[in-house]
Amino acid sequence: MIKTDVLIIGAGPAACGAAVYTLRAGLKTVMLGGSSIGGQLLQTNDIENYPGFIDPIPGFDIMDKMHKQCKRLGAEILGETVSRLDTSSTPFKVYTECGKEYEALSVIIATGAAARWLGVKGEGEYKGKGVSACATCDGFFFRGKEVCVIGGGNTAFEDALFLTNFCSKVYLVHRREVFRADKLTVDKAKSNPKIEMLIPYVAEEVKGENGSVTSLVLKNVTDNSLKEIKTSGVFVAVGSIPQTLFLKGSGVETSAGGHVIINEHMSTNIRGVFAAGDCADEFYRQAIIAAGSGAKAAIEAINYVNLVK
Ligand code: NAP
Repeated sequence: MIKTDVLIIGAGPAACGAAVYTLRAGLKTVMLGGSSIGGQLLQTNDIENYPGFIDPIPGFDIMDKMHKQCKRLGAEILGETVSRLDTSSTPFKVYTECGKEYEALSVIIATGAAARWLGVKGEGEYKGKGVSACATCDGFFFRGKEVCVIGGGNTAFEDALFLTNFCSKVYLVHRREVFRADKLTVDKAKSNPKIEMLIPYVAEEVKGENGSVTSLVLKNVTDNSLKEIKTSGVFVAVGSIPQTLFLKGSGVETSAGGHVIINEHMSTNIRGVFAAGDCADEFYRQAIIAAGSGAKAAIEAINYVNLVK
């Protein structure tokens, strides 16, 4: 049993934003970051909307700086995945997949979100064989090839732009004329000769041969007509789902969509358990907001720990 004042579940921007505060308040802080330690930002190419960085900075580099900052302040950042949270008594108990057990006066849930998949035929079969949710990780393998990106948000547009560095052609498939991505990024993509927009289409089926993707069947959502385009890669960028399954049975309330329900003080329904970042935020999902919400959760956790310690 490892005892700590604050246990932060996660190691992304929300978790780091929280840790900086709890550590500077003199509280022992353990961060359990799961297998990838760093969350979605690790898979984001260039970040241009996080204050303090004059030039665009790779998401990986921002996370590296955040982790180094937390460690300098005394954080323990461990690559352990939490399997269960027990809030039935205090201190709270946290169990990890590798069999470790932690006891914490306060818990901050900052587990972020993970890629949402389409659920179409062939997607599962060809995952890792041409179907990917991470252009940053896998784009390199598609040098000189034609690929598709599905989605109309910032991730899809940034992925499409990133993939033009390697690929001969990038189809951007979106289901409607309106994009969620910001105008600057949309304009950049529209003026890139390697990017062709396919609108309004949704994916129907990923097809392949000999274990690799060869084509994508698309359906036009206005007239239901089908068309098949030759492609070696299908990059799915259709949003994310909160990583909160481990909270089942914990007593912590989540919404129908799986987001942790919190009040304006970042508190869950369990006193002493707080949440921050994308796991509790259905709308904003920005690194800066995650980091800020982590700081808010930490300020509340500090007050709580000082009361119960
Ligand atoms: P998002 O903004 O939620 O966009 C998801 C896109 O996928 C939407 O265009 C949606 O279409 C489409 N979609 C959802 N389900 C679909 C389905 N089953 N089939 C086809 N299309 C589907 O997600 P995101 O792009 O991952 O961005 C998440 C958040 O992170 C956003 O707030 C974004 O601004 C932010 N972000 C910021 C940066 C940056 O600033 N550098 C980079 C990446 C992400 P509809 O529009 O029709 O719903």
